[in-house]
Amino acid sequence: MTNTIEELRWAPTTPRMPVMFVGHGSPINAITDNPFATEWLRLGKELPKPSAIVCVSAHWRTSGAKVTAMERPETIHDFGGFPQELFNMQYPAVGSPSEAHEIAELTHKLITFDHEWGLDHGTWSVLCRMYPEADIPVVQISLDVNRTPEQHVALARELSELRNRGVLVMGSGNIVHNLKLLGAEGTAFDWATEFDGLSADLIQKRDLRSLANYKDLGVAAMLSVPTDEHYLPMLYALALADPEDDITFFNSQIVLGSASMRSFIIG
Ligand code: ZN
Repeated sequence: MTNTIEELRWAPTTPRMPVMFVGHGSPINAITDNPFATEWLRLGKELPKPSAIVCVSAHWRTSGAKVTAMERPETIHDFGGFPQELFNMQYPAVGSPSEAHEIAELTHKLITFDHEWGLDHGTWSVLCRMYPEADIPVVQISLDVNRTPEQHVALARELSELRNRGVLVMGSGNIVHNLKLLGAEGTAFDWATEFDGLSADLIQKRDLRSLANYKDLGVAAMLSVPTDEHYLPMLYALALADPEDDITFFNSQIVLGSASMRSFIIG
């Protein structure tokens, strides 16, 4: 499943804002030259400039869904064992209390305000390459640990109106993500390749029912999604696809045996 550069070119097909799912991979992608970050930079230039960014990150799980509502979210360095340069990184985008308010309203207050979190690396490691100027307000939505995948999909659908208001909704995770079974650089386990390909087919068919019930998709799925926090942000993005949208994959590569960088744009 390799795409050529030409196939990756994105052009809008509807007036609604596109939606993104990004496989973020290692935080080190924020500061090293690598093909994934090159794509993030390109998309930052090609996509219509958003009025705000709403990111559902794998790295923020709470009891009850939250949205960051502070004026100035801090840059959270939620990792260990990386170079000091990465800990020195700041992503000084402002927050958007008004967008947080809108999200609470759209979801009938199922999503409530948070004033403690900020921007974790699921968000800023990508945005620092897409929008290095940090000149677009950013809010994060957490993953409610009490929801089933189907309930995450239902909550995501409540956010559809954001696409009419110039807001870029972005899920950030990794479809295949098993850090306990890492392989060598440049390799991909068979089960990782199998589930990455299966999920790509289901994404292209917008088969959210099967994707939400990934536990029924066999051994490859169980090995690829041992915990759901990196998988669920993909459901948030796909739940916002309209029938007339195109879905364009990019960064469709498996790294270290067991992490899929597969990403897509809807729109
Ligand atoms: Zn991650």
